[in-house]
Amino acid sequence: MSNRTVYVGAHVSASGGVFNAPANAADIGATALSLFTRNQRQWKAKPYAPEAVDAFKAAMKAHGYNGDNSIPHSSYLVNLGSTDDEIWEKSIAGLADELSRTVQLDMRWLNFHPGTSKGEWDEERTLARIAAGIDRVHAQVQGGVLVLENTAGQGSAMGNRIEHLQRIIELVKDPDRVAICIDTCHAFAAGYDIRTAGGWDELIKLVEGTTGLDKLVALHLNDSTGGLGSRKDRHKPIGDGEIGLEGFRAIMEDSRLDGKPMILETPEVDRWPEEIALLKKLAS
Ligand SMILES: [Zn+2]
Ligand SMILES: [Zn+2]
Repeated sequence: MSNRTVYVGAHVSASGGVFNAPANAADIGATALSLFTRNQRQWKAKPYAPEAVDAFKAAMKAHGYNGDNSIPHSSYLVNLGSTDDEIWEKSIAGLADELSRTVQLDMRWLNFHPGTSKGEWDEERTLARIAAGIDRVHAQVQGGVLVLENTAGQGSAMGNRIEHLQRIIELVKDPDRVAICIDTCHAFAAGYDIRTAGGWDELIKLVEGTTGLDKLVALHLNDSTGGLGSRKDRHKPIGDGEIGLEGFRAIMEDSRLDGKPMILETPEVDRWPEEIALLKKLAS
């Protein structure tokens, strides 16, 4: 019998209210969960009703979720790398609102994509812009950790190199309030060959040598439609894509990841129970 702590779940719907998400996760056998803390297609939202917060906390407790196995995802509108001051300010305000909701809901991590200057600025200037945005969000919110997700490098998105995430952490004033999340589809599309145990080990060694493994707090488990280095952010069900089952076997067998929430963002929602069961089996 294995005594590993493996948290596997999915980014579930919070339709009708955030308090619906924990039951949606429990229904698919998830031991980890992600959700949007508010409508992700809009810059602004009404504050929560106090009853909604209470209902969320009760549902989390009832289904075994807590700050260790849950990690909300921010709106895709947010772009802290934007050269446009209006969009940059909206991104800071939006991300600060989402981080404060995260804390209000008794969670600690908020996942987001680092951002892009759309090729207008060089890498260092863009990374500095992102770090300055993070400082502003930190100054506005008590508590909470912003979690930088690696990207496929589509367009000129920052975060396709782990070194970008390391550089942002170096530049922020309060690095204790920044962590990282690895998305397997993005990593593969960015050129990290994680189809084998050896390839996965190389990526983890890179994390150890840059941000440090303690900074890696969560994973997004997605197979990839695009090939190695394709820079395409297109997710596939586990085992159906270019990474393939052996890659995910290596990840699930890697005890260095124990206790870190692993979140599916795969496109066939009906298959989540089957995918979660498969991943749990690979870990046992
Ligand atoms: Zn992701
Ligand atoms: Zn993606």
